[in-house]
Amino acid sequence: MPNPSAPRQNGKQLAPEVRKRNFEEVAQIFTKEEAQAEANRCLHCKNARCQANCPVGVQIPDFIALLKDGKVGEAASKIMETSLLPAICGRVCPQEKHCEGNCVLKERFGSVNIGMLERYTADTARKEGLLKAPQTAKPTGKKVACIGSGPSSIAAAAELARAGHDVTVFEALHAFGGVLRYGIPSFRLPREVIDHEIETVKSMGVKFVTDVLVGATEKIADLLKDFDAVYVGSGAGLPTLTGIPGENAVGVYSANEFLTRINLMQAFKFPETDTPIQVGKHVVVLGGGNSAMDAARCAMRLGPDSVTIAYRRSVAEMPARAAEVEHAKEEGVQFEYLVTPKEVLADDKGRVTGLKCTRNQLGEPDARGRRRPVEIPGSEFVMPVDTIIVAIGQKPNPIIAKTTPELKTTERGVLVLDEEGKTTMPGVYAGGDIIRGGATVLLAMKDGIEAAKRINAYLEGK
Ligand code: FAD
Repeated sequence: MPNPSAPRQNGKQLAPEVRKRNFEEVAQIFTKEEAQAEANRCLHCKNARCQANCPVGVQIPDFIALLKDGKVGEAASKIMETSLLPAICGRVCPQEKHCEGNCVLKERFGSVNIGMLERYTADTARKEGLLKAPQTAKPTGKKVACIGSGPSSIAAAAELARAGHDVTVFEALHAFGGVLRYGIPSFRLPREVIDHEIETVKSMGVKFVTDVLVGATEKIADLLKDFDAVYVGSGAGLPTLTGIPGENAVGVYSANEFLTRINLMQAFKFPETDTPIQVGKHVVVLGGGNSAMDAARCAMRLGPDSVTIAYRRSVAEMPARAAEVEHAKEEGVQFEYLVTPKEVLADDKGRVTGLKCTRNQLGEPDARGRRRPVEIPGSEFVMPVDTIIVAIGQKPNPIIAKTTPELKTTERGVLVLDEEGKTTMPGVYAGGDIIRGGATVLLAMKDGIEAAKRINAYLEGK
């Protein structure tokens, strides 16, 4: 019998004072006993709201039931019917907004810890050799190119391989995974987890090629000479800056550069690695999303005296995953809410010495329902900092749009799709951050899976 009122298992975590100076994974995997106890809390609802609210429709009650029966391999296969990145999603999905946020136990006893159960299932199945790559259909003879190797292209590639197509993923960088690799730090998502999940997709026959910048190395029109269809999953890797005076001072980073140096180039191991990274004594990170939390927590691990997140709205409007905000606070990151940066101050050598800001109050909600920050007159103050990391959002890199005039984009540079999810160029489909401008891993995967189904239909008629 399920025991929903049993205490929710949260697993163990590295102690904040230990982890804030290293890049080891913070959240530890459930023990077998913790996993059993947590699985036993699930009521296996008939109309499972958790599943209905998962963007890719993971069969949550069914995989938890299999886990409860000790069938870890079968539980993993059940998840992988709809999501090929269970160890990644178990770690980084905003479960509080999707599955766990809709669990019937949420109000009375606390939601089932679905994220940790998904991660336990994937990690354990892998460790015990129980993970099976999905079957692929017999070869269709059709070839599809996927641009970018982030979650969106990976999901599309896997779905296309399942259908029997010959799929090649082209990645501009020297390593695969997109933001999973260059944005999300190893203390949240160990590199070997990304490698393992990409291996699963490779084992389905998908080819992965590095160092191909589509738009420069080859254009989409060139790809269409060799491939029957193209999926564009090139993300939104171009940083947005504030545009305030002084922003080009020495000591100002975009979160993109800061995180790429640390996560992709492993700059925290310099001089063992080639790429250096420097922070001063007092670091401020501008923004309130996942990038801001990751940048702040990475900065903390480089040993400054203080790290502060300055966000222009209040904690209620912060888009970051709740767990990351909590972890950042535990590690000593300070938060300044309702603050707008106005000017970067620098010394005569051009090095940052401070950040002039104003304080805000909350006004009317914006189009997305989040209350707008409204400046309080005369509230100017200076934060005495020597390092500033700007984490206020990203937009698509324009190279693909610029070199493919057939593709229509919006003013924000995101690709335009019609009601059927097609781009304006025949045979070219797109999804993930390149059409959303910035979203989540699961939404990017959902786009990839849906586009793959459209590509399958398109290729059937070709
Ligand atoms: P990306 O992951 O950006 O992958 C695109 C890939 O395409 C990149 O590898 C890029 O190098 C490659 N590429 C670009 N242009 C070309 C080209 N011309 N030719 C070839 N390759 C190209 N979401 C969550 O759900 N949970 C989180 O905890 C979370 N944390 C985040 C932390 C950070 C720092 C950031 C920036 C985002 C975070 N997100 C999180 C958002 C999430 O990671 C993205 O929404 C998701 O990765 C988008 O997937 P994608 O496949 O569309 O693009």
